Amino acid sequence: MPDKNHHDLIVLGGGPGGYAAAFHAADKGFNVTLIDPEENPGGTCLYRGCIPSKAMLHAAKVISDAREASEFGVDFAEPKIDVDKLRAWKGSVVERLTSGVGKIAEMRKVKHIRGTGSFVSNTELEVKLVDGTSERHTFDKLILATGSLAISIPGWPMDNPRMMLAKDALDLPEIPKTMLIVGGGYIGLELGSVYATLGTKVTVVEMMKTILPGADKDLVRPLNKRLKQQFEAIHLETKVSSVNALKTKVKVEFEGKGADDARKEYDYVLVSVGRKPNSANLGLENTNIELDDKGFVQVDDKRRTAEANIWAIGDIAGEPMLAHKASHEGRVAVEAIAGEKSAGWDPRAIPAVVFTDPEIAWAGLMEDEAKAKGIDVQVVKFPLAASGRAITLGRTDGLTKLVVNAKTKKILGLGIAGPNAGDMIAEGVLAIEMGCVADDLRLSIHPHPTLSEAIMESADLIFNQSPHYMLPKKR
Ligand code: NAD
Repeated sequence: MPDKNHHDLIVLGGGPGGYAAAFHAADKGFNVTLIDPEENPGGTCLYRGCIPSKAMLHAAKVISDAREASEFGVDFAEPKIDVDKLRAWKGSVVERLTSGVGKIAEMRKVKHIRGTGSFVSNTELEVKLVDGTSERHTFDKLILATGSLAISIPGWPMDNPRMMLAKDALDLPEIPKTMLIVGGGYIGLELGSVYATLGTKVTVVEMMKTILPGADKDLVRPLNKRLKQQFEAIHLETKVSSVNALKTKVKVEFEGKGADDARKEYDYVLVSVGRKPNSANLGLENTNIELDDKGFVQVDDKRRTAEANIWAIGDIAGEPMLAHKASHEGRVAVEAIAGEKSAGWDPRAIPAVVFTDPEIAWAGLMEDEAKAKGIDVQVVKFPLAASGRAITLGRTDGLTKLVVNAKTKKILGLGIAGPNAGDMIAEGVLAIEMGCVADDLRLSIHPHPTLSEAIMESADLIFNQSPHYMLPKKR
């Protein structure tokens, strides 16, 4: 009799890394067991991250587009926001996607155990089931995809409902009058934009010199300008020195540049200071799996850990902590497990997108990194003010920025700030992966009038031959 608690391949964690890996493995004929506590696969991204936040950002965009329509003579009344209905709609988006993924898991015959696992050894897990009981499960091979957790600041009273992490803010408890957001990165700016559009006075404190410190400054500039109008305040080089969470408000003290100017009382505080790999309570000490000093699992180019039968993918296996990177690592790990001569993990470009308004997206080598590494690049910037399509949208606050090898004109990086930047960046990723040169981009006919022409015309600018924009003369 086969042992029902023994598995050929376990995938531990059902986010976009784990479920993509499980499905890919099932397609290759493996018997796959997915262990995850939720009813369906989806993980943080589908349940408490990318998907619900994008649903809310869509609602916010509709509101701000309606407000701005008055500029071209179309006036709408101020929106009436039914918070319960908005929350329910967001929930229905999540439900639709996660239940769809759950059905696909069934169709692929992926067995789903609802629980959380920790290692007893390199071939055995203790699984705490959602009904409160525990079971032991053994495996031949395992893909570790347990993702990451929000970082909270030690000593802060995160158990007070006035103190929120992203998942709490996504629950939209109410539309607060005031909100402090600690950390001006992806989450702080995306959720800050949602709440500000719904009517909250939003303050951001960011300890670095700029919001989105990881992105090139000229890409961030158009966003910064708009957020300064939308938010009550953005305090840079500022930190929170003390937090006192009461029943109906949070009292806060600051240190740094903006300390004197910042409001000292808020209805809610959202902490969005980054995420850390979810590797601390997995019993990894019962295996030979190695962690780096930040807690990321160490893997080789096939995503294999120091244990020959265990692979790790996604947020737990290193930066950048992005869903699309996790899914692709899942593919690499499964191909390695299947013994295929997989190319391994060697992407030339992993796109990053901040879904604010304007959106900011970049892929490959950006200007700041090229400078820091002393790489000889040519950089051109095509302003959206020169794009016919951007003018028709009334949104010329942005740019497309192309980074090429100074000699060969090979495309090394693309950055975009503007409407639909997140969709358009994919063209740059393809160009970089395919080893395109600037001529490939500019000689490919792009549809008119679209924002995508800005990418083609950036490539034209490499030769200063854009029909709609001339490079400023060098002094
Ligand atoms: P983040 O790393 O994007 O931003 C955190 C910000 O907080 C940084 O700018 C940092 O300088 C600042 N900070 C840190 N400590 C601080 C302090 N004590 N006071 C003030 N500022 C402080 O992190 P996040 O916004 O929490 O997002 C976490 C991760 O989730 C991201 O790295 C990203 O991988 C992922 N994410 C991606 C998307 C997307 O792809 N659109 C959206 C949301 C989250």
